[in-house]
Amino acid sequence: MSYKSRERKRQVKVETRKMVQAARAKHSPDTATRYFLRVVKHDCRCVACGGHLRRGAEMVYRHHGAVKLCVGCAERDPLVSYVPSAHWEASRRAEVRKRAEKASRQVWD
Ligand SMILES: [Zn+2]
Repeated sequence: MSYKSRERKRQVKVETRKMVQAARAKHSPDTATRYFLRVVKHDCRCVACGGHLRRGAEMVYRHHGAVKLCVGCAERDPLVSYVPSAHWEASRRAEVRKRAEKASRQVWD
């Protein structure tokens, strides 16, 4: 692994940590009652339809009352409006970057 790619990896880690810390700093009663799109950390079930939420999949989560919904139920419920969480955005960015790297490697190999 080259110095450059290690440096890039390190930078991604720093950015992710910064974003997570910023999100934590913003935690408040307001944050606790809002819905966020996020990545499933532990297998669980949607409280509305009972569907299985698998690790690595997307879910909608509210801290207050520990509301866990699958994206489908969140979309159907007019009372639920969610925003992507900082963590979800960071993981999405990492995924896009990974895919781009893979694509560029295929071109040059
Ligand atoms: Zn559901």
